[in-house]
Amino acid sequence: MIGIARSTTHAGATRTCPHCRATILESAVVCPGCKHHLRFDKDARPGGAAATKTAWQVEGTLDAERMDSATEFTILITVRNERNEEVARQVVNVGALQGVERRTFTLSIETSEPRPAAPLSGLRRR
Ligand SMILES: [Zn+2]
Repeated sequence: MIGIARSTTHAGATRTCPHCRATILESAVVCPGCKHHLRFDKDARPGGAAATKTAWQVEGTLDAERMDSATEFTILITVRNERNEEVARQVVNVGALQGVERRTFTLSIETSEPRPAAPLSGLRRR
């Protein structure tokens, strides 16, 4: 066998971003967390991720509640499966707001269709 066959990946396979250490999809061309390019892919679309679309997004703002004292906040994301079991729980940010301070948060869910697995007999160059 000449060259190195790329291991076949399955939908949902993950890896660690070498830049920010976030757990990301193995299929990602650009890390959604730190936006570093992870590999240069001839099939990638302009702007980075291959065939990624935003399935769902919500944005909101949090204003300080008082001028004379601080209000602490915690931004927490939980993910549950079809049986309502918690599969992920992450504190994204914490802090305190006072007076005119404000935080705007955006939660988005991006989806993509994984590429078909490489043929087992195919040879690919990295
Ligand atoms: Zn990253």
